[in-house]
Amino acid sequence: MTGSWGCPHEVKGLCSKVKNLPCDPGMKGCVLYGRFAFSDPDKNSPSIKRKLKDQKAEKKVGDKES
Ligand code: SF4
Repeated sequence: MTGSWGCPHEVKGLCSKVKNLPCDPGMKGCVLYGRFAFSDPDKNSPSIKRKLKDQKAEKKVGDKES
């Protein structure tokens, strides 16, 4: 068993799901878009951005209370 993940939509480095563009995990239209948070904010869906913002706000409140 390997630890890597292979996308079934990737064919020779191109994404068959998004107009045969070069595979760029997390880009808009990718199966990963909106499901995970990426370090590149441009790849994060509005709902992921909201979750990250809420988590950041909660952390700030937690820091002030301790
Ligand atoms: S961009 Fe996303 S959906 Fe497309 S091949 Fe890459 S990982 Fe798969």
